[in-house]
Amino acid sequence: MIDIHTHLHPPKLFAAIRRWFAERSDWDLSAQPTEPHAVAAVLRDAGVERFVFFSYAHKTGMARELNAWLAATAADLGGFGLALGTVHLDDEAYLEDLRLALDAGCIGIKLHENVQNLAIDDARFDPVYRELAARGAFLLAHVGPIPWSYPPDEGAARVERVLQRNPDLNVVVAHFGVPDSARYFDLMAQHARLHLDTTMVFAAHSPVGGPVEIETARIEQHADRVLYGTDFPNIPFAYGSERAGIERLGLSATARRAIFHDNAARLIAAAGGEAEADSAAKRR
Ligand SMILES: [Zn+2]
Repeated sequence: MIDIHTHLHPPKLFAAIRRWFAERSDWDLSAQPTEPHAVAAVLRDAGVERFVFFSYAHKTGMARELNAWLAATAADLGGFGLALGTVHLDDEAYLEDLRLALDAGCIGIKLHENVQNLAIDDARFDPVYRELAARGAFLLAHVGPIPWSYPPDEGAARVERVLQRNPDLNVVVAHFGVPDSARYFDLMAQHARLHLDTTMVFAAHSPVGGPVEIETARIEQHADRVLYGTDFPNIPFAYGSERAGIERLGLSATARRAIFHDNAARLIAAAGGEAEADSAAKRR
């Protein structure tokens, strides 16, 4: 099992994020660890073979240092955890930030439209997306302001523009593209590099999502581009809930293997994550 969507943050930032959740939401995260090895231990105990983690550059001037921390943390985890870096468009040298992150071992980037106050179809991202595609690295994007509000359609339109302009870029849309999952499933037929992760959508009592009205047959049809993700450790429920929710869908063994492992393994391999894991293991 590979978890494509988890979070590790430097200690001060993680404390600030936890404070934000405590003050602004009713999510109880007190049971969840934050220290990287403690997070990794929970994942390992749950049967995870490999996980992808990332953070947020919510303001300018922090992406480069954050990416260095993420890459160093991945190395420290010996290849069990792989990092996505990030960029902030208002940083002067954001393209250089990206290159340094990829050189240091990040296998792509995470963008969060709401936290970073940006739109993923901003033309200033074009050189970023070209660089990612050229290196086989991928973009994982949290599109729009979910779970705090659910404006329909516009997010999917932005993703479609990114895919049209960057046909060689692998894109993973977080949270199953809620609230536009059906629209994304339509887009998947036309865009072979569009993926969705399951993060927080299938867990019982998840604060994200509401009803995902996608027939199991449609998930089967595009199971080669659906990836298991969880948002651990920033979830107000037990780690196993997401997996249990996906199991309840009654998918075929082929689809389950693709969602829980093969699709993520393919993205990681394309980004050189295998080599990265090997060299991290050797460095230990
Ligand atoms: Zn997340």
